Amino acid sequence: MPNYADIIVDISHENLDKSYQYSIPEEYKEKALIGALVIVPFGKGNRFINGYIVGISTEPKWKVDLIKPIHQVVSDAPVIESQLISLAYWIKETFGATMNDALKTVIPVKKSVKSKEKKTLRLAIPLEEAREQLELFRRKNNRGRVRLLEVLIDQSTDLKDASVDNADGVNTGVDVNGGDGKRHSGNEEESTGDFPLEIDYELAVNKLNIARTTIQDLENLGIITTDVEKLYRNPLNSTVSEKDRIVLSAEQQCISEEIITAYNAGLRETYLIHGVTGSGKTEVYLEIIDAVIKQGKKVIMLIPEIALTYQTVMRFYRRFGNRISIMNSKLSQGERYDQFLRAKNGDIDIMIGPRSALFTPFEDLGLIIMDEEHEGSYKSENPPKYHAREVAIKRAEISGASVLLGSATPSLESYTKALKGEYKLYTLPSRGGEAILPKIWIEDLREELKKKNKSIFSIHLRELMEDRLSKKEQIILFINRRGYAGFVSCRSCGHVMKCPHCDVSLTAHNNGTLVCHYCGHEERTPDKCPACGSRYIAAFGTGTQKVEELVRKEFPGARVLRMDTDTTKTKDGHEKILSAFANLEADILVGTQMIVKGHDFPMVTLVGIIAADLSLYASDYRASERTYQLLAQAAGRAGRGKLPGEVIIQTYQPEHYSIDAASKNDYISFYKQEMNYRNLLKYPPAAHILAILTAARDENKAAFAAKLLGGAAKEWMKERESTEDTVIIGPAAAVLSKANDIYRYMIYIKQADYDCLIQLKDYLEGYINYSEHFNSCNIQFDFDPMNSY
Ligand code: ADP
Ligand code: ZN
Ligand code: ZN
Repeated sequence: MPNYADIIVDISHENLDKSYQYSIPEEYKEKALIGALVIVPFGKGNRFINGYIVGISTEPKWKVDLIKPIHQVVSDAPVIESQLISLAYWIKETFGATMNDALKTVIPVKKSVKSKEKKTLRLAIPLEEAREQLELFRRKNNRGRVRLLEVLIDQSTDLKDASVDNADGVNTGVDVNGGDGKRHSGNEEESTGDFPLEIDYELAVNKLNIARTTIQDLENLGIITTDVEKLYRNPLNSTVSEKDRIVLSAEQQCISEEIITAYNAGLRETYLIHGVTGSGKTEVYLEIIDAVIKQGKKVIMLIPEIALTYQTVMRFYRRFGNRISIMNSKLSQGERYDQFLRAKNGDIDIMIGPRSALFTPFEDLGLIIMDEEHEGSYKSENPPKYHAREVAIKRAEISGASVLLGSATPSLESYTKALKGEYKLYTLPSRGGEAILPKIWIEDLREELKKKNKSIFSIHLRELMEDRLSKKEQIILFINRRGYAGFVSCRSCGHVMKCPHCDVSLTAHNNGTLVCHYCGHEERTPDKCPACGSRYIAAFGTGTQKVEELVRKEFPGARVLRMDTDTTKTKDGHEKILSAFANLEADILVGTQMIVKGHDFPMVTLVGIIAADLSLYASDYRASERTYQLLAQAAGRAGRGKLPGEVIIQTYQPEHYSIDAASKNDYISFYKQEMNYRNLLKYPPAAHILAILTAARDENKAAFAAKLLGGAAKEWMKERESTEDTVIIGPAAAVLSKANDIYRYMIYIKQADYDCLIQLKDYLEGYINYSEHFNSCNIQFDFDPMNSY
């Protein structure tokens, strides 16, 4: 029976790690749950303050007679903080992390960023009376008071010139620049009528040199008042006009109507829209959002950061104006906090942003949309290593909201759930408007080599590039670099050196060996291809820079832009390149996976995928899925406007099902083949994986910790009689075996029952806490990892 509650008092957001233990009185045993709002005695004077329960335990942490009892449990107050704390607890339980890390993820941290305030001084007495007071102060020679009253009474001073108009009609009456100048509320004429005469506080102090104490005095005398208004730093700051609205196609209409009808009938569900690239999913989102906010409910719109471009945000802005706000990693702590505050105060209806926007403190959340739901960036790489999709569904459950997932290439997880009926599935099989899906060609690079073409451009790709350049249409060249980790392959036959035990590619090390990072298998790097005997076997990889260079050499007249991590380092680098390309300032855009997400360039009629295979050799089980997604999304950039598009996929492995299915735009066929593989090898979603990382500066320590945990896991599974259906892989050095001088070891545990893995994790956490072997070792748990370690 739980007797004690850990309580955080005063969510100042800086002190989340500091909780206090209180005892739970008998009468509150049932109501004292995680997240409950409580009133507790605090401090020397035992004054009563609010707090939230963040943990429950049976053990006292102090002498029992020093622990005070909870005064009252106010659990029926449906405050947003309670919901978010419950969510944090669920994240901690489900993904493994400390309650601290979970709370800090979920509750916006204020830090000590001062939020800006706009203070305005106003006359608090009738004009006549003010004039009398002014005379009085003149006689007493109170200069400061006189100056201030003069301005307030007769505003025909030079102050008008200093005033800043805030009538751009975009901000919520919110001055982003910090606002100095007289505030115009309503129109100009009003301020000379019965409108209370006023002046900006800072202006009075800085321009009129009126002492703060003078203002205080006049306020105490009841002559003036100071109004304080929070100034939010609004990251959205531009003007747009309403555009003609797109008429939804019958399919789009059908999906949005069904979802809206269900919503209005009070049904809360999880939906998955599988719509090909450019099928108009966003238009469907806009329609549904509109209906939800008309009910007075709020919406969180998740978009991967890389797709969160100006172009995308503007589509929402045109529809909903300043009822939206955006969140991204470029916002300062203060700006982030302000956005959350605006949400909490009901100043906005829609929050758009990446993963972290999921924790927007909306009181009346009605809908969470997750666009590009397959994206790896929805999984947190730091503890708690939560997946935003699962958290979104949980948050929706707590808040009584629906969830809408959308993708052209759904994750196997979501599609499996949709097929099982857990999510409701909708399909948009064709493109919106007049656009049609592009024609896709596969070029076998082994054939090019036979034809003595050693260029990175196949003969066909070169032909099409010349054609587009002559027609003044645009080209995207996509270099699939993802997952490139020094694997070795044969340029004659495409053979890849793989681990005989694990079906992952081996990684080349400088000392001439090939290593498997799943099981530790090692072999010498061959000098001849074991499959065909060719000497053209080497580590593989082509960089964007190299491609740009070759394009310039082979197509000297073409204007080329390159987009990769190097060229997008600056604050707006990413946005600048995209808008230059959109403005037709270049003919060819060369880039990595950065360019394949959600961009809409109507003049692009050719997409060339230089080496489609690269992502296939990443040493993790999601390599094929990621390849399919990248190819389908890259291909999806072609022919989005009125002009039809073509795509060329250059590959050494045209027969690989990821590449074959992507070339036919056949998601279902890809899904079936990939699921066979996952079922066979018990990879998610066929089963679950618990990945355990041990990291330490001392390699032996990291290795030993991994060995201990692997052993303990084995024992635990044995006791539970789950040895049969559990696979424990490792310990072995991680793919990234050393980072910043920290050595990393991995254990992977495969098991179909997620709860079983959670219990194992809890057990191991206990073991880690009580054994000194783990002292200078960092240990992280990751359920169903998205990336290799
Ligand atoms: P997705 O989100 O599925 O990639 P978008 O919503 O971005 O697709 O739509 C792709 C393009 O098609 C956009 O330029 C959009 O304006 C256009 N579009 C979408 N639906 C329609 C429609 N019903 N009629 C005309 N154009 C449409
Ligand atoms: Zn292996
Ligand atoms: Zn070969």
